[in-house]
Amino acid sequence: MQHHPCCLLCDQAPETMRHLLMDCTFARQTWHEVLTWLGVQIPTPNNEATLMDWWLRSTQAATTLQCKALASVTETSSLDDLEAQ
Ligand SMILES: [Zn+2]
Repeated sequence: MQHHPCCLLCDQAPETMRHLLMDCTFARQTWHEVLTWLGVQIPTPNNEATLMDWWLRSTQAATTLQCKALASVTETSSLDDLEAQ
């Protein structure tokens, strides 16, 4: 199966899992839109080493209701799988 080496969304960086979930301009905009839509005032994933680090930091700062909202959009049960790739 042929694989494009650069991100197909921005064409500015290698297409890695981290780039697609955290670093890509389009990913960052998507996170911003989703968090705004949920009314969750948590910074978008940015300088964390992994998405799981962001998740853990965010859930510590969020209310219970915000945690439920985050869990519904991130499907936290699959984060371990994503981080392992
Ligand atoms: Zn990109």
